[in-house]
This record gives sequence, structure tokens and C-alpha cells, in this order.
Amino acid sequence: MTQEKPKILLKFEGMPNGRALKTYMAHSGYEALKKAFAMSKEDVINEVKASGLRGRGGAGFPTGLKWSFVPKDMPGPKYLICNNDESEPGTFKDRHLCSVSPHMVIEGMIIAGFAIGANKGYIYTRYEFQEEIGQVEAAIKEAYEAGLLGKNILGSGFDFDLDHYTGAGAYICGEETGLISSLEGKKGQPKLKPPFPAVSGYLARPTIVNNTETLANVPHIILNGAKEFRKYGSEKSPGTKLFSISGALGKPGVYEVPLGYSWNRFLNEEAGGLLPGLSLKALIPGGASAPLLTPKECEDLTLDYECMAAKGTMLGSGAIMVIDNRQSMVELLRCTIEFFAHESCGQCTPCREGTGWLNNIMVGINDREVGADSVDRLHLVSKQMGGRTICALSDACAMPVMSYVQKFSDELKAHLAKG
Ligand code: SF4
Repeated sequence: MTQEKPKILLKFEGMPNGRALKTYMAHSGYEALKKAFAMSKEDVINEVKASGLRGRGGAGFPTGLKWSFVPKDMPGPKYLICNNDESEPGTFKDRHLCSVSPHMVIEGMIIAGFAIGANKGYIYTRYEFQEEIGQVEAAIKEAYEAGLLGKNILGSGFDFDLDHYTGAGAYICGEETGLISSLEGKKGQPKLKPPFPAVSGYLARPTIVNNTETLANVPHIILNGAKEFRKYGSEKSPGTKLFSISGALGKPGVYEVPLGYSWNRFLNEEAGGLLPGLSLKALIPGGASAPLLTPKECEDLTLDYECMAAKGTMLGSGAIMVIDNRQSMVELLRCTIEFFAHESCGQCTPCREGTGWLNNIMVGINDREVGADSVDRLHLVSKQMGGRTICALSDACAMPVMSYVQKFSDELKAHLAKG
């Protein structure tokens, strides 16, 4: 696999007036849209399918396949939603992307809307991203003024309206059915599937929800072809990917590298390595819900879905958190559990009670008010929480807890033993 690092999604990063429409158009912006309008909807979907583009929000589901689930012959409105909620602790790549290349996201949305037959789209951004909200809204305005949104876009006969919606800042609104509930003006609570949103989503109409980065990949795929997209990455994880990396590093930030890229190279070249005198204690490779890895497990790690799964963790949305030797795993686990307990929407007993019990136990461990058997109890409670709930939040809490207990129980017990 090539270790070249093309800048596709971040090509406007650092460019003067990089996010302006005229800059975007000067670099082939909206050319993919013109090309898509000359294709049939099926051909657009087939090209995205052939590219192997997988959803960049965490699940990694094939994008073209998801689009093909929208019923073709169903009359009435269909919707496209850009999930720009980005709530996973540790992730900040979508807010960077929509700030650097808002028109890439908008163009991807118009093409996706055309392919699935949706004439209305929404970008759903979490409330806290105030700066990016202004930037996205300015780009939407520019696109309307240039006739790239609205009626009969570029004389194609295709209409597409795009609204921007600001959520109130709940983790669970990053889950697609929770997001749809929120957009409908209801409590942002996930719903049981099936029916899947592709058949019955926003206002009970066919709806596709795609992550911001997923949609930003679409113009490149349509303009240059699936083969060009597959030039980077691996067979099962093609393309480039954005990773946000945080920790005590020389250059924490957001970087674009091909999927399958070497972790060691990423840490030392892109992120500038650990600060002098520090060593790696653990790695959280895919946001707070990902099981953590020990330094030994990281030795041959590559940044792709398959390698992460083989090591018992996940790539998630590409939110890498580097834990150095000064960090307390007790404090880290306490914060992680507290977060999920706070964000549980409370509909499912294993999640509502499980995250609550984990939180009680962990506060007891942190305050040294419980016995050493509490560490095993964390594992016991976590085991009951997976695969039994409406959405994945319960698993998202249970999985990292089990990995902390499995890999750092000595530290948790030593903390308790200090009395
Ligand atoms: Fe709500 Fe948790 Fe059930 Fe998800 S798993 S629907 S967050 S209670």
C-alpha cells in the first residue's frame, strides 16, 4: 500500500480565502456536480459503490449501498441529512473539515441528493461549534446566490434546497435516529430499527443520513472516478481519512492520510511524537467509546477498520487520544463513565441503569470507598449492557470499561490499596 499522503479533503487548508466559493471553483469546484447531472442516478450510486467509500462517522457502512436502500419508485419527498453533530469525545475532524472546505460538503450533498432523489437537505451541527456554524451558513448563502442551490440547479432541472440546523449539544443526537427526532422538534432520542431511515426517517419519509466527511468525499469520487479514489487506502478500506489526534504531542491536530497508514509514522511524523520525556501508556484509537490499546498492541498498528478490529478495538470516526505515562487510568475511566452516564437518554434499562451503576462504582473506586472486588464488578456490570438496547450508547460505555479492567486492573486495584 502506498504511504503517499495526498491532500484531497484538506486541499484548501491554509489557502488564502480557502473556504470561499470562488477559490473552490478555481480548483474544479462544482465540476463533479456538472458531471453527475450528465449521469443517471443509478450510475452515480454505482460509482460511489465501486469506490468502496465507507461511512466516516464511525460505523464504516458502505455509502453507495446505503444510498441504494432508498426506494426508487416511492412518490413524495425524500431527505438527505449531513450529520455534522460530531459528539464523540476526542473527535474534532468534521468541524475542521466544514470550516476548511464547506463547499466540498455542500457539493457532496447536492450530488447525493440527486442520486437518491431528495430535493431537500439539512446540515445538522452541534450548538457548540459557533464559529463553524457561521462559516457553513455563509457557504450555503454563497451557493444559493450562485444558483448552485435552489430551483433548476445549473439548468439541470434538479431542485435542491439546503437548510442548516443547530442541535442543542447532546451526544445521542449524533446517532442517526436520535438526530432525526431532534430535527423533527422532538426529544433527541433514538428509535428502534427497523424501519431504517432509508425507508422511514425524517417525517416518516425516506431519509439518508451521512457523516460530513463521507459527503465531502463524493465530489472527488464522481469527478475522478472510483479507481482514482481506490489508489489510496486498502482493498477493504479505500481512500484517505481524516484523523484528529490529541494528547501531549508536538503537533496535535487534524491530518489526512490514506487508510492503512502506519500508526508509528502517524504519531511521529504527523503528530510530532510525544513531548520530550514522555512515553506511551495507552492509546484510544477511535474516540472514548473505543477499547484502548497497550503500547505493545500499537507496535504494528495500521489506521484502518480491519487492523483495529483484529486488535479488538475500532477506528470509529478517527478520534485518536494518546495517553502518556503521567496520566491516571482511574481518573480517565471515571471521566469516561461519567460522560456516558450523563449522556444516556434513559429509554433502555441496561443503558440507563448500567451506566448509572458503573458511575457509582467508579466514583467509589476513585474516592477509595469500596473494596477491591469493585474492579471485577465493573466488568460484571459492563457484560450485561451490550447488544440489548435501542442504540449503541450502552455498548459504547461498556466496551472501553471492559478494556480498562482487562488491561489496567492492577492500576485500579493499586489505587484502592493506597487506602
Ligand atoms: Fe437511550 Fe441508552 Fe437506549 Fe441509546 S442505549 S436509546 S442512549 S437508553
